[in-house]
Amino acid sequence: MTMQFAPTKPPDKVKILCGKCRVPFREKIKNVREGFQVQCPNCTKLITFSTDSADPTVQRAFTEVRRIKNGMMLSINRGDSEYSR
Ligand SMILES: [Zn+2]
Repeated sequence: MTMQFAPTKPPDKVKILCGKCRVPFREKIKNVREGFQVQCPNCTKLITFSTDSADPTVQRAFTEVRRIKNGMMLSINRGDSEYSR
């Protein structure tokens, strides 16, 4: 176990709210990047991640990923495990 190195398990997925059916689903953080496409498991709408997308679904996903990554950095620098969602 590498418990002392990673006191809290950082989330590896972000919540994505489908703009079509409004049903949230989760996608891996590493998949939320330029040019990647995911399909909504509920309505099969294809969502294309792009930083200049006008789709609020996509923009929200990017914001969420950035927030999680910043949170991970902060907790590493501070050496504390306080991470609240
Ligand atoms: Zn959907």
